[in-house]
Amino acid sequence: MGDLRKLVRGALAVIAGCAFGFTAQAKPPEQGMAALVGVDVLDADFATILPDRTILIDDGVIVAIGPADMAVPDGATVHDLAGKTVIPGLWDAHVHSRYLGIDHPRLMIVHGITTIRDLGGGWEHQRRIFDWREKIESGEMAGPRIWSAATVLDNSGAGWSHIGLVHSPEEAREQVRRLKREGADFVKVYSNLTPENYDAIIDEASKVGLPVDGHVPLSIGVERAIRSGQRVIEHAEEIAIALADHEPEKNADGYLLWTDLEGRLSRDKAAELAALMLEHGSYLSPTLNLGPHFNSLKTDTEAALANPALRFIPPPYLVAWKPRLDRPLWPSALPSARVEKEAIGLLHEAGVRIIAGTDTVKPYFVPGHALHDELVALVGAGLSEGEVIRAATRTPAEMVGALGQGLIAKGQAADLLVLDASPLEDIANTRRIAMVVAAGRIYDREALAAMREDVAAKAAVWDGEPTGR
Ligand SMILES: [Zn+2]
Repeated sequence: MGDLRKLVRGALAVIAGCAFGFTAQAKPPEQGMAALVGVDVLDADFATILPDRTILIDDGVIVAIGPADMAVPDGATVHDLAGKTVIPGLWDAHVHSRYLGIDHPRLMIVHGITTIRDLGGGWEHQRRIFDWREKIESGEMAGPRIWSAATVLDNSGAGWSHIGLVHSPEEAREQVRRLKREGADFVKVYSNLTPENYDAIIDEASKVGLPVDGHVPLSIGVERAIRSGQRVIEHAEEIAIALADHEPEKNADGYLLWTDLEGRLSRDKAAELAALMLEHGSYLSPTLNLGPHFNSLKTDTEAALANPALRFIPPPYLVAWKPRLDRPLWPSALPSARVEKEAIGLLHEAGVRIIAGTDTVKPYFVPGHALHDELVALVGAGLSEGEVIRAATRTPAEMVGALGQGLIAKGQAADLLVLDASPLEDIANTRRIAMVVAAGRIYDREALAAMREDVAAKAAVWDGEPTGR
């Protein structure tokens, strides 16, 4: 859809240029030809490393891959990257980019993320995000490709400031049409939708051609959401409960006893659910590290606060986040994180397509930086390193239909992450970034270091009002 949008925009620019007698000012993302020489390449099977290759990129696309001594055309910029490993540019498939003063686009680039899926931020912030999307596409600013939900549709306030409230099926349909009109790439549904409003959203979205992603509404449940054609299930909580081999106990206040689920998830139920998800084309975005991150604020506060990436966050946010540290650890927090991990392992084994996402920004949860912890968490749930990289590259690209992205192969978009060591040996190596190529634009180590310093310097002096939850 992004490519189509680009084509349409390009065509409009040409038409406008002809009609008004000037050429469009925004330059297309042209990039001189470049050769990455001597790199070890992660193959399209996400399991094999092809050693000593040369990747030739031109105009944002991989135009050739060959042996290290492959002839390089005159005029191509040569980057000697012997001993480095290159994987596709990463996706963070669950972010919220609405936080004023936080440099979302450049934080993605410096962390090797070349595409994000933005799960909504309210209309007042969306203008800015759509504006980034255009400027990034035209090469005017550095940043990832953006797939955006624009806003979130829900029935009643869950306390979030970015919800598009719907009170009737008619209003639900109108909101979906507005999302389409304004340029959203998909619809995001939230937890408190009534069945009538949910069904209206599903129906209208299919009429206007927008996929529906989001939380599983409490009134709908996992199975009905999947049968309704909801493309992505965000978070792993509901789906973990759906795998219980018995009716889990609740305490006197009605809260689920997660300890009662530990080690008691059903492999058969996982297989059934996986078959259903594959049949209806749905994906799971478990944001697996979100719970453990919040737990770590209590169980290992010192380490959480020592995160060097916090220098990318403007001080007013750090002040606003402080009360979070005083909140007691929720009694079920640790067992629920363990149960979710167990559920992801079973679902993955059963064939569910998983996409990696973080749900940043959250207190002390830094955009870009957090994705690398999510990758580690997914390995902890039982995915192989290669499968985890696929979950953060090709699988989300397939999900949105961007089949020209997420692989290292001739004709694919030049979205690449060059690492100092192979992530197949240790997934933590995704943090050892030597170079990022985003839509053919190359950021080498020096450029990335300069960008990081600039992001940190601008954050340090930002003194605006933090965007609320
Ligand atoms: Zn979210």
